[in-house]
Amino acid sequence: MVLFASSMRKYPVSLAIAWALALESVLAQEGTGTAVAGTNPNYSCDPTVCVLPKCYCANGSPPGGLSPRSIPQFITLTFDDAVDSVLEPVIQSMIDGPLNPNGCPISSTFFVSTQWNDYWAVQRLYSKGHEIATHTMNHIGSPPIEEIVGAQTALNRYAGVPKSKLLGFRHPYLLYSTQSFQNLASAGTFLYESSMSMDGSINLWPYTLDNGPAISCVTGDCSGNFKFPGLWSLPMANLNNQDGSINTSMDPMANSTSPLTSDEILALLQYNFLSHYNGQRTPMGLFIHATPALPAIEPQRLVAYVAFIQWTLQNYPDVYWINNQQLLAWMQSPSDIAGSLKNPALGCLFPARDPSNVEICDGIDNKGDGNIDVGLVESCQYPDQNAYFSSCFGCPSKAPNVSDANPATSSTRFPIPDAGCPNAGTWDPVAGQCVSLARPIIVRAAVSTSPGSGNSSSAPGSGSSSSTIAMAVLGHLFLVGC
Ligand SMILES: [Zn+2]
Repeated sequence: MVLFASSMRKYPVSLAIAWALALESVLAQEGTGTAVAGTNPNYSCDPTVCVLPKCYCANGSPPGGLSPRSIPQFITLTFDDAVDSVLEPVIQSMIDGPLNPNGCPISSTFFVSTQWNDYWAVQRLYSKGHEIATHTMNHIGSPPIEEIVGAQTALNRYAGVPKSKLLGFRHPYLLYSTQSFQNLASAGTFLYESSMSMDGSINLWPYTLDNGPAISCVTGDCSGNFKFPGLWSLPMANLNNQDGSINTSMDPMANSTSPLTSDEILALLQYNFLSHYNGQRTPMGLFIHATPALPAIEPQRLVAYVAFIQWTLQNYPDVYWINNQQLLAWMQSPSDIAGSLKNPALGCLFPARDPSNVEICDGIDNKGDGNIDVGLVESCQYPDQNAYFSSCFGCPSKAPNVSDANPATSSTRFPIPDAGCPNAGTWDPVAGQCVSLARPIIVRAAVSTSPGSGNSSSAPGSGSSSSTIAMAVLGHLFLVGC
């Protein structure tokens, strides 16, 4: 066990290479698939029986009887796989800063697998208001229940994410089965699952699986009694090319032999956005892996992502980048554009940014001096398990694994309560208490243009502007990487 002050740590080069190669393998299988799923002809659901908040029939119309033009356009940005302390600041540079129309920072969902994961890095993402969801411990397709529950247990215990907030799951390789869904349901703690890819031209809101899948199961097996009452399914709409063909379900053009430029990727995202925005306004998803966000690997994709986030928020004052839990909460309490500005479902999630002048091991720079959790976070190293991570919650006697996700520990740190801390509170694992922190007032920058009339057929802001953004982003990233 080693105490250290730096907010950055490096892993051995050999481990970093192994990690990168393993994730490249994941990309090859999970990230570049172009599975095309249509609607399930056997699906039927009675909306007079299946009603919110527990049940919702699959359909393409906004909930609550609202018209597509009267509601915001939601975009969900999700990241898959392990997060480490080198990658986390790069991800933060991509998503830390932009504000939604209600003044709250944008929020993403991280489907985290725990092998090669750094728990403190996950805690820092959670403390910034992002959703942490699970993706098994060892990145196993059609996983047994130990893989599913183990990741929940370890992320709760060592990343300090309250059990009550670990509600989502994505199958590795998008490979699911009736049995793995049964395992998910048996755990009894999951609100939703998001692995079922579908044709991007299908307009579908999330729905519950009370009546089985509404789309065909092209990346998994839905045979048998595939009905899971109360469990939400968040379909993954593929990105379509302008000729109507499928581009990808995840990571646009990752590992391509002729990768797109940043402007071409931006144009692809803008085209798909406008299909949603000018169409039924079903939620748009941008599903990516964290690895390619590294500046050294396909930097043009990271540039395009950042440019796309900025383009949507600067040009469309009714666009919200929210996490999956927020999306489901809004569906259970839907509101029009004006009402959504104050809808609690879309509210700010981070506990605080104001310096408290007392550093707490909570993943936040409480003192505002540029350092996070100085002298408080511990480095846990297990060479025999090829496991290295940091944590505010003490080091266990061995790294969490599928046979023991919560190993014994001699640490005196206190686990976070299942419900977390109320309001703007943050958990102090040293003192074992919630600390109340003030929530800052955020003023959203003025929106210069407002083309959101609903008839846009082209993509404003595309072209040379992304190049300017590209240079700024890359410059920032290289600074972060130093
Ligand atoms: Zn994965």
